Amino acid sequence: MLKLLTNAQVFAPEALGLRHVLIGGGRIIAISGDKSELSSASATEFDLEGRRLVPGFIDGHAHVTGGGGESGFKTRVPPLSLGQFTCAGITSVVGVLGTDDTTRDTRSLLAQTRALREEGLGAWCHTGGYHVPPVTLTGSVRDDIVYLDPVIGVGELALSDHRSSQPSRDELLRIASDAHVAGMISGKAGIVHLHLGDGERGLDLVRQALQLSELPARVFNPTHINRRKALFEEAVELAREGSTVDITAFPVADGEDAWAADVALIRYLESGAPAERVTMSSDGGGCLPVFNDQGEILQMETAKPASLIETLQKILASGVALEQALPAFTSNVADILRLHDRGRIRAGAAADLLVVDDENEIRDVMIAGIWHVRAGAQQVFGQFESRDNQDK
Ligand SMILES: [Zn+2]
Repeated sequence: MLKLLTNAQVFAPEALGLRHVLIGGGRIIAISGDKSELSSASATEFDLEGRRLVPGFIDGHAHVTGGGGESGFKTRVPPLSLGQFTCAGITSVVGVLGTDDTTRDTRSLLAQTRALREEGLGAWCHTGGYHVPPVTLTGSVRDDIVYLDPVIGVGELALSDHRSSQPSRDELLRIASDAHVAGMISGKAGIVHLHLGDGERGLDLVRQALQLSELPARVFNPTHINRRKALFEEAVELAREGSTVDITAFPVADGEDAWAADVALIRYLESGAPAERVTMSSDGGGCLPVFNDQGEILQMETAKPASLIETLQKILASGVALEQALPAFTSNVADILRLHDRGRIRAGAAADLLVVDDENEIRDVMIAGIWHVRAGAQQVFGQFESRDNQDK
């Protein structure tokens, strides 16, 4: 069945102006300024009345199985539901394991990734977790990436953190080389997605690894770079060297030595570092612990996928143009993850689209040509989601 979206102000993410978009078979068939070029008797028409149409967000870091578990078993966070992503404008997600890659493993992550796919979301995952040797399904990072369809890289491997395995430079290099070669064989991302902790060593190990080896900088993909201001500066330098760096949309308290995600993205864009080498992820389903100096948890909250749209709204409120802010949520993520048919509005791409209203709220969400959210109301529900209880 064909759908024709008319009178859309298209941001692809670059501003294309008023366009009409024909959709069929889950893909964008054609985009035109002339509606008569696209009109077809069999197409159902949806008039967007000049609202903005943007690519669906790609969340490159979410704990789809639920993360946490850092303060006893009862603190294991439950799995995230379909609507927690779709109502927040996320049409594609990459699941990761974090601290708890013991009671969670690649099998359970793979199963939850596939469950989200069955429910209609674009879903991939990384093998491994915080620790070394990385937890895998086949016994090897390289084989997991090459042979397991949803697995596109390895991580989040922890560096500069008291919860890490305290990996050596050579251990990091071995894992990164496996990811790189597996990416070449399979055409997948082939990255090592690096969790950076609060440790003062920051990105030192990554710089050493790059200096010593022939690996391209793109293989090293650090996240949580805004958690310390000095780490952020290191990450901007690393982006100039060719790595793509990831900002986490977590809350930041007043006076904390961290940049809020909106401020971090604006600072990055103003730094003159390559605009295509920065991304934004939610860490959804992860826990946000505050530790004392003994490594004991003082308090804990859970990160929400909706932090992405909330961050975008703050960035737009600061006066940044939509087409400047969007790539970090869409095309830049698609590029580092080598998801070539996502993150852009163009003919042939997956029909993963968001309609944004005048208040910068997400009004409608389409994934693979299917409306998941219409006028702010969830239309497609996960297996265990209640229709009366729409939690965002
Ligand atoms: Zn992390």
